[in-house]
Amino acid sequence: MTEFHFTLHATDGAARTGRIDTPRGEIRTPAFMPVGTAATVKAMLPESVRETGADILLGNTYHLMLRPGAERVARLGGLHRFMNWDRPILTDSGGFQVMSLAELRKLDEDGVTFRSHIDGSKHRLSPETSMEIQRLLGSDIVMAFDECPALPADRERIASSMRLSMRWAARSRAAFGDRPGHALFGIQQGGLERDLRAESAEALREIGFEGYAIGGLAVGEGQEAMFGCLDYAPGMLPEDKPRYLMGVGKPDDIVGAVKRGVDMMDCVLPSRSGRTGQAWTRRGQVNIKNARHADDPRPLDEHCTCPACRSYSRAYLHHVFRAGEMISGMLLTWHNLHYFQEIMAGMRAAISEGRFAAWEADFHATRAEGDIEPL
Ligand SMILES: [Zn+2]
Repeated sequence: MTEFHFTLHATDGAARTGRIDTPRGEIRTPAFMPVGTAATVKAMLPESVRETGADILLGNTYHLMLRPGAERVARLGGLHRFMNWDRPILTDSGGFQVMSLAELRKLDEDGVTFRSHIDGSKHRLSPETSMEIQRLLGSDIVMAFDECPALPADRERIASSMRLSMRWAARSRAAFGDRPGHALFGIQQGGLERDLRAESAEALREIGFEGYAIGGLAVGEGQEAMFGCLDYAPGMLPEDKPRYLMGVGKPDDIVGAVKRGVDMMDCVLPSRSGRTGQAWTRRGQVNIKNARHADDPRPLDEHCTCPACRSYSRAYLHHVFRAGEMISGMLLTWHNLHYFQEIMAGMRAAISEGRFAAWEADFHATRAEGDIEPL
């Protein structure tokens, strides 16, 4: 049986490329993980998600524990079989979404009690229950249970929250147990405070994980502050383990994060934007709602090989969005996921060949041109 293993192939500045081997297949890094919140990447068949180039999906523990329930998923053969995706799945711990979505949260040293945003039912999550739920789901990469304060928060609040998360990280490690082929990732916290990030990294190293996430960013601090933190935070984590930046981001966030040493990312942006008529292209954002597209026979991006660009015009994409047809979300989501994976593939090749800086300059120059002129 293949063990969970990370191999670093090349570095270019702080940027890295490599491969994570798992029993369910390899994950090429840097990797972008589409988000399959409720056991589906919305508007996409799993085989279509795979066709865009995704090696791994993310599932949300909070949503799945409430509906359809982790025990039910386990009885039905686990999340992979349930949603028909046989490649790696990473699940978050539920902690972040309890804080952002649940009602009547009550946090104590042991865990958090909350009410479901769906039906008001009462639930409890702790490091131990989060590990159990993620085991029932059959997740390949399990995230330690943590608490993430929204920024801005004062230093004292960030420090005490980070230290609680480190105690929970140790309890997550103990509860995870010995599961060959599966990985547990610890999550660095500490807000934008460099010394707290260092303290957190040290605590995580001491516990020991198969991978390390950078948590507590992309929570409203802005790109400049995030990049400022990423200038040092990844370098505090073990070099020989994957580094995962949670919840990022827009194309230029992703490129900036990889430049600073991040190996994995996830975001709802490409799928969510696809359902609201927003396309991300090499030349920036396109709002397909705009009247300028109504008579435009050209594709979204003439260089893109996705089905939306290969076979449909801007005029058609505009029409189906305005008509509220489901194919609108399907085609734009496909295009967006395809484009995000193309960015990842481009960066992997550039890092391997030691030309990341040139690739990045070209990425920004093409975006700066803006969308093609209206007809
Ligand atoms: Zn396309």
